[in-house]
Amino acid sequence: MSDTDAPLVKKVTIIGFGLIGSSLARAIQLHGLAGELVACDASHDACATIERLQLADSVGSDPATAVRGAGLIVLAVPMGAYAEVARAIAPHLAEGAIVTDVGSVKAAAIEALAPLLPAHVHLVPGHPIAGTEHSGPASGFATLFEGRWCILTPPEGTDAGKVAVVAELWRRCGSMIEVMDAAHHDKVLAITSHLPHLIAYTIVGTAADLAEDAKAEVIKFSASGFRDFTRIAASDPTMWRDIFLNNREATLEMLQRFTEDLTALQKAIRRGDGDTLYEMFARTRTIRRSIVDARQA
Ligand code: NAP
Repeated sequence: MSDTDAPLVKKVTIIGFGLIGSSLARAIQLHGLAGELVACDASHDACATIERLQLADSVGSDPATAVRGAGLIVLAVPMGAYAEVARAIAPHLAEGAIVTDVGSVKAAAIEALAPLLPAHVHLVPGHPIAGTEHSGPASGFATLFEGRWCILTPPEGTDAGKVAVVAELWRRCGSMIEVMDAAHHDKVLAITSHLPHLIAYTIVGTAADLAEDAKAEVIKFSASGFRDFTRIAASDPTMWRDIFLNNREATLEMLQRFTEDLTALQKAIRRGDGDTLYEMFARTRTIRRSIVDARQA
C-alpha cells in the first residue's frame, strides 16, 4: 500500500493528545491515513493548542462524543487514566471498532482495558518505541516514529485483520512492526527502557541532594556524563510513575539483576581488580556498536 491510496480508516479518534498522541496525529495528517481525525484531551489548554495548530478535524474533552462512529480509537493517555477512559467510551464504541493504545506497559494495559470494552470491539494494544522527554501537544512532530519499532501485543484470538490495520497505520507512519506477547514485551522494556530511567532518576536525585557548592559543580561539569542522565530524568513524572506501578514484577526482577552486577563492580573497584572492570567495559562497548549498526542510536 502507498500513501496515495484511500485513507486507511474513515474516522480515527485519538484520546490523549500529548507528545505521542499529537505526533501520531501529525503523521496521520501528513500521510493522509484518516478520512476524519478527532482529538480528545482532558486538558483545556491542550485542546486550545490542538485547535491553534490545526492538529485534528475536531477537538473536544468528552471521550464519549469523540469516539462516536470511529473505526479506530487510539488511547494515548497516561496509563493511570486507562480504566476511566475505557469506562467513558465503552457504551459509545461502534460495532467492530478497533481500540488500540500506545502505553509503555502491555500486560497492565490489557488487564485495564479488556474487561471494560464491549465484546463487539477489537483490542489491539501497541507501543511505539519512540519518544522524547517533552510533553504536551506542542512538543509532538510527524517524524517521531520514522525508523523506530512499534510493538503490537494482541491478546490470543485477536482478529488478524484488525491487527493488520493497526500494523499498517504504524508502518505508514514510518515504523517497523514486531508482534509479541505482552508479558515478553514488559520484560524486554524493563531492561531497555524502565531500568535506565530508574537509574537516571536516581543519579540526578542523588546529585540534587548534594550540598549546594557540590551541586553547582555537577551542573558546571555536566558534560562528563551526567548531562545524558538529566535528559532522561526530565521525562514526564506522571507517565513514569504509571510505568513503574504497572510493570512492577519485571522491573523488580531487572533491578535485582542490576544490583547484583553493580555489587560485583563495587567489589572489583575495592579490590583493585582492573581485569574485571576492563572485561565488563569492553563487553558493553560492543552492545553500543550493535545499536549503532541497527540504526537505533
Ligand atoms: P503527555 O505528553 O503528558 O500527554 C498525555 C495527554 O493526555 C495530556 O494532554 C493529558 O492531559 C491527557 N490526559 C490525561 N488524562 C486524560 C483523560 N482521562 N482523558 C483525556 N486526556 C487525558 O504524555 P505522552 O508522553 O504523550 O504519553 C502518553 C502515553 O504514551 C503514555 O501512556 C505513555 O506510556 C506512552 N508512551 C510515551 C512515550 C514517551 O516517550 N513520552 C513513548 C512511548 C509511549 P493533562 O496534561 O491535563 O494530564
